[in-house]
Amino acid sequence: AADAAPLLEVRNLSMFFKGVKAVADVSIAVPAGQIRGIVGPNGSGKTTLFNVISGLYRPTAGRVLLDGRDVTAARPHALAHAGIARTFQNLRLFAALTVRDNVLVALDPTRARGTWRYLLLPVGVWRRDRALRREADALLERFGLRAFADDQPTALPYGTQRRVEIARAMAARPRLLLLDEPAAGLNGDEVRQLCDIIRSIRDVGVTVVVIEHNMGMVMSLCDHVTVFAHGAIIADGPPQDVAVSPEVIEAYLGE
Ligand code: ADP
Repeated sequence: AADAAPLLEVRNLSMFFKGVKAVADVSIAVPAGQIRGIVGPNGSGKTTLFNVISGLYRPTAGRVLLDGRDVTAARPHALAHAGIARTFQNLRLFAALTVRDNVLVALDPTRARGTWRYLLLPVGVWRRDRALRREADALLERFGLRAFADDQPTALPYGTQRRVEIARAMAARPRLLLLDEPAAGLNGDEVRQLCDIIRSIRDVGVTVVVIEHNMGMVMSLCDHVTVFAHGAIIADGPPQDVAVSPEVIEAYLGE
């Protein structure tokens, strides 16, 4: 519903880099359960927005609220604990680990073991732990990755690697998932599969914010789209309304 309390709120956010206004006075409210698209030409501030939300940058001004709680510039691990997970434009998988272990190391072992001391044990011990392994395998199953559990990610097609990255992000059981251009480099079938996965994530109650250049995907997937140009929001609304906005057409023609 439009009046639902926002899960994510960004208030009057600005991020300047040595005089470059990457993001200037941007406010966004994303209700729980929404799939929000963030679109805009290259250099319009989209990734900077994600970097501020996920705690990589301290903003020049403004605040980030998660479920009403101020999480501005909190440390990335604290944000992960608060329920924010993200993927990156360039894959960041551990090449030397199997697909299962890439997911396994992102699990919170204290959930399975009930003890923080577990965090001090080497990955080899985690790997032999039945409860953790079961949880990792359940995630692999859910994202169609079971057959690749023992493969190294770099040996797999790009679309499959993207799914591993999403499975790993979901291992932290986030409430908010930030996806940075998840469809980049994927073929049509892989994009459709990705959309099904994103919808299934939303359907279990996770709010999704996705930066994406593939407009066909944005139009069919997103409940609501926010359009950036030159660090500011130039349009915001349901995808079918945004697509016909003169400001948006102008911004894209000028790219
Ligand atoms: P988008 O994700 O929409 O392509 P970005 O957020 O990456 O846009 O970039 C917005 C603007 O901020 C660009 O002009 C970019 O060069 C600048 N910018 C982004 N990150 C940095 C940084 N770490 N240092 C300096 N300038 C940056």
